[in-house]
Amino acid sequence: MSQITHAGYIAVVGRPNVGKSTLINALVGAKVSIVSSKPQTTRHRILGVRSEGDAQFVFVDTPGFQTGHRSALNQAMNRVVTQTLAEVDIVLFILEAMKLTPADRRVLPLLPANRPVILLVNKLDQVADKARLLPFLQEIAALAAFAEIVPISALDARDGDRLLAILRPYLPESPPFFEEDAITDRSERFLAAEILREKAFRLTGDEIPYGVAVEIEKYETEADGLRRIHAVVWVDREAHKPILLGRGGERMKRIASEARQDMERLFDARVFLQCWVKVKSGWMDNAALLKSLGHE
Ligand code: GDP
Ligand code: MG
Repeated sequence: MSQITHAGYIAVVGRPNVGKSTLINALVGAKVSIVSSKPQTTRHRILGVRSEGDAQFVFVDTPGFQTGHRSALNQAMNRVVTQTLAEVDIVLFILEAMKLTPADRRVLPLLPANRPVILLVNKLDQVADKARLLPFLQEIAALAAFAEIVPISALDARDGDRLLAILRPYLPESPPFFEEDAITDRSERFLAAEILREKAFRLTGDEIPYGVAVEIEKYETEADGLRRIHAVVWVDREAHKPILLGRGGERMKRIASEARQDMERLFDARVFLQCWVKVKSGWMDNAALLKSLGHE
C-alpha cells in the first residue's frame, strides 16, 4: 500500500536558461520514475516525478515557453501554454535573480489566476551584492499575484528540499499518479529521446520549426552502468539536415554533447551517445499515400 495521500501536477515555466532543467534534476535526481505513463497522463510532457513521504510531485513541461516562435505561431503556442497551466495544480515560474528580461515579461499574462503561482528567483549564488536583492524582489512581487516568492540556487541541494516543503501544502489530496520505485530502462529510453529532441530544438532555434523527431534505435545498459545509446534525429526536409549538422557537423556535436551531459546527470551514469541525422520525408509521404489507398 502506498502511503501517498497528496499528489499533483506542477508546471515549470520560464524562458530558456533560467535553470529549469537544473532545478528538475536537483528535485528528482535519480528518483525519476517515469514508467510508461497511464493514458491520462500522456497529455503532458513529464520532466520528473518525486515521491517524498506522503506526497508525490509530478513536474511537467510547458511546451511553448522554450521556443522562439513568433507572430502567427505565437497565438497557437500561447493557447497550448494557457491550457497546460489551467490543468495543473501548481505553477512554478522561474526567473534569474536580478534579471527581468522581455522574454520573462511575456510569460506574465499567461500565468493562471486560479492556480497558485510560485515564483522562484534562481541563481541566488550569483548575486554578489545581496543588498540589491530586496528591491528586485519588491519589483517583481508587484508584477503578479504570486502565492510565494522563493529565492533559491538550483545548484544547492538543500534548496531543493526546502522547495518541496514549500510546495507540499499546495498539493491536492490524491492517490499517486506514478509508482514510487526507481528508473526503468523503458523510462530512460523515453527520457533520452526527449532530452535529445529538446537540445536539437533549442540549438536550432527558429530554423527548424517543427520537424524534429528522435528515435532511439539501441539502448543498452552495460554491467558497469554505462548506457550505450544510438539515436536517429529525423528531420522533415533535406534542407534541414545541414542546419542541424552545422558547419563541419559542429552543431550536431554540440547537441549530442549537451544531451549526453543531461542524460548523465539524470541517470547518474556514464552515457555513450551516438547520433545520426536522417531525412524522413520520403517514407512519411509514402506512408501517407499508402494509408490514403487503404494499405497501412
Ligand atoms: P533551462 O534552460 O531553464 O533549463 O536552464 P538550465 O537548467 O539548462 O540552466 C542554464 C544554465 O544556468 C546552466 O549552465 C546551469 O548550470 C546554470 N544554473 C542553473 N541554476 C543555477 C544556479 O542556481 N546558480 C548558478 N550559478 N547557475 C545556475
Ligand atoms: Mg532546460
